[in-house]
Amino acid sequence: MEVRLFNDISYERFLSEDTLMGSRCRKCGALFAPPRAMCIKCYGSEMEWVEMKGRGKLAAFTCIAIGPPFMIKEGYDRKHPYVSGVVELEEGVKVVARIEGVDGSKPEDIKIGTPLEVQFLHRGEGANSTTFLAFKPS
Ligand SMILES: [Zn+2]
Repeated sequence: MEVRLFNDISYERFLSEDTLMGSRCRKCGALFAPPRAMCIKCYGSEMEWVEMKGRGKLAAFTCIAIGPPFMIKEGYDRKHPYVSGVVELEEGVKVVARIEGVDGSKPEDIKIGTPLEVQFLHRGEGANSTTFLAFKPS
């Protein structure tokens, strides 16, 4: 298998392949997603890739009414805010992601602790393509 460095570029490449990956410290077992090349708990630098199951629950969120241009292009605006959240994965790590399938104009209806499952949103084409990590209620 091709060696991938433990950085954001590799993380995003895995996302483009519909895979959510983290890195685990071989020394103390600490898990990081997005991956880190060095363990912040024991300063070990021997990491290994671990695939996350892609299930978790909503830990925090914000509704964003004024988004970046690519979000406006997707139809999000003041009347249709999108939701950005922190998802606590079953593995115990927290990732920041877009939360789909909830109504950003009704934050009072969005509940902390909602079970979520991963979704990979592919946008753009060729060299401009990106994949956004997203979660939706499961
Ligand atoms: Zn460690």
